[in-house]
Amino acid sequence: MEVLLEEIIEQCAPYKALGKPASYIPELAKGDVNDLGMYIILSNGQTFKAGDYKKPFSIQSVVKPILLLLALMDHGMEEVRKKIGVEATGKPFDAINVTDQSLQNLHINPMVNMGAIAMCTMIKGENYDERFQRLLDLTRHLAGNPAIELDEAVYLSEKRTGNKNRALAYLLKSYGLIEDDVEDVLNCYFKACSIKVTCKDLARIAYVFASHGKMPITEARIFPAEYAHFVNAVLVTCGMYDGSGDFAVRVGVPAKSGVGGGIMAVVPTRMGIGIFSPGLDEKGNSLAGTKALEALSKRMYLSIF
Ligand code: GLN
Repeated sequence: MEVLLEEIIEQCAPYKALGKPASYIPELAKGDVNDLGMYIILSNGQTFKAGDYKKPFSIQSVVKPILLLLALMDHGMEEVRKKIGVEATGKPFDAINVTDQSLQNLHINPMVNMGAIAMCTMIKGENYDERFQRLLDLTRHLAGNPAIELDEAVYLSEKRTGNKNRALAYLLKSYGLIEDDVEDVLNCYFKACSIKVTCKDLARIAYVFASHGKMPITEARIFPAEYAHFVNAVLVTCGMYDGSGDFAVRVGVPAKSGVGGGIMAVVPTRMGIGIFSPGLDEKGNSLAGTKALEALSKRMYLSIF
């Protein structure tokens, strides 16, 4: 298996330089396009890795399913479904949708920025520091890694330059979709995106979604299986933004990308996968990372379709 991963990493090497690291968050522009790594955990707990799997990167939008999970754990399915929709957006992650229909809460999708910002208001906590801490704790728990920390430089970089997200948050506020102080909510969102992870962390988190809420090896249940069905379904339809249809055809598993170059792929009942390569395609998905997943899916018949 490790030989297969090495082979895939080598075979996808020419694609690394075809992508570009995100530059709208200055700190992410420093990403090295030569990096490509992957880590896999099988349902029997076996792990396999190849390439630059040890390199840390910011989680970015891969945090969105964790935010959604925490909202489900805090409020249950019914309350969450009242607050956000699950229809595929067919839109880029930072799209500003200013139509009366798109600003109704059931059109706010948790896998794009506007929905994820709204999700931050659903985390329970006395204040936004506490809410972020609970999200960080859940991320550490799912990844089985208490050492996961915030990347302060990425957080400050995003806070300084994230005016489009600021616009999205104020739009939500003006439509009554968030009640709290906008800057507090945004700080929580920016910090959420700046959590520093590795391929191993993403693979572990993916594994828990793949096993419908159970940890590797110990099989301890972290959350009810129905939350995994919910999150995995949303990942299939919109985890790769307006690239989700193409990704479903080429790879065929629930997955979430982030502009840090990470992809978390969930193969229900079979495995969790973490991939990292900072060169992005025009939709903001890791280009070589997607190629590597496509190759892996073909070789191991991973498509759920
Ligand atoms: N922090 C990024 C943003 O808000 C997350 C986007 C992404 O990873 N696609 O723009």
